[in-house]
Amino acid sequence: MSIFSHPAYDKHEQVAFYQDAKSGLKAIIAVHNTNLGPSLGGCRMWPYADDGEALNDVLRLSRGMTYKSAMAGLKLGGGKSVIIGDPRKDKSPELLRAMGDFLNTLGGRYITAEDSGTSVEDMRVISERSRYVSGVVEGSEHGGDPSPSTAYGVFVGLRAAVEHRWGKTDLAGLKVSLQGVGNVGFRLARLLKDAGAELFVTDIFQDNIDRAVNELGATAVAADEIFDVEADLFAPCAMGAILNDNTIARLKVGAIAGAANNQLAEARHAEVLRGKGILYAPDYVINAGGIIDVYYQQQGARDAGGCYDPAEVKAHIDRIGSTLREVFERAEASGETTAHVADRVAEERFGHEDTLKANSAAA
Ligand code: NAD
Repeated sequence: MSIFSHPAYDKHEQVAFYQDAKSGLKAIIAVHNTNLGPSLGGCRMWPYADDGEALNDVLRLSRGMTYKSAMAGLKLGGGKSVIIGDPRKDKSPELLRAMGDFLNTLGGRYITAEDSGTSVEDMRVISERSRYVSGVVEGSEHGGDPSPSTAYGVFVGLRAAVEHRWGKTDLAGLKVSLQGVGNVGFRLARLLKDAGAELFVTDIFQDNIDRAVNELGATAVAADEIFDVEADLFAPCAMGAILNDNTIARLKVGAIAGAANNQLAEARHAEVLRGKGILYAPDYVINAGGIIDVYYQQQGARDAGGCYDPAEVKAHIDRIGSTLREVFERAEASGETTAHVADRVAEERFGHEDTLKANSAAA
């Protein structure tokens, strides 16, 4: 297995491997870029088929965090960690404490938070050993869970997309198809319902669908039929790679704005969407509410006597709207895709060598 020539290796500053025989911990931390500040990103626990799959995931995800934090205007770099193992079978307090020891070896260059397979409670256990943990601050309204802030940020971004696409700010009567009504999707659905939108939802769990139907008056749609719904806007809030040749050909919407990470199956799909006249809100820009929340939790924990101020956090998340408006306008003016414009703005912000060189050559 190669590192420096790995397809997902993108000038990462540091990749660290750790094993603790006693607890069974096997983990990797990838620090992509720390130009703007210490790297911050979740700790994912997953039963990876092999080490190569885990390495690929951590390299890809840590890079994504650099772009997300830069676009959210945070003084943070991008990093991520993965624990190789089944969270339902292999997780133990000893293993999580050993993860804390691993974090300490990086001396604060990487700060962790919850992610798939880890919880706020797990972060609390890790924090018994290490202070480089976010998402465990008491002052936070929702006990460290970033999902409500992610949902609110997506709602703000979705409004910006509607305004750009249809020139209106009122969401009353807007038809929204929503894939995945879990932690983020259900909260987003509630915000949309309160704003008067008409909802079409799907999920792979019937109880999640029932909750949206019963509590929000949503119309249930079969999982594979969500792409065929005639709606104004599609909000992917389940899994990645959901915008591909098959689904894009079926979509009958004017805009896409949702929480899921890595929505585009391949970079070229941004161009396919543009060709179909579908406005795409780049995923890492619109779903940054969670990392913004986690950043303030981390600040509150670090500053002596510092506290988490929900009004300050909300004001920062509200800026997702103006960031997206700038991306939409620049894309329209230049004829590029919104995804490409977002990447370039992020790279300018965190100082990506190649982008800076290209900019100075063009000047
Ligand atoms: P979640 O697991 O609580 O919700 C996902 C929902 O999608 C679940 O209800 C699941 O049953 C459903 N689902 C899975 N596959 C599906 C399919 N094929 N069709 C329909 N429904 C399906 O996760 P979440 O925390 O709500 O996150 C949702 C997405 O947003 C993920 O892609 C996540 O990476 C991304 N995201 C979440 C946060 C956050 O703060 N939680 C932050 C940024 C990005």
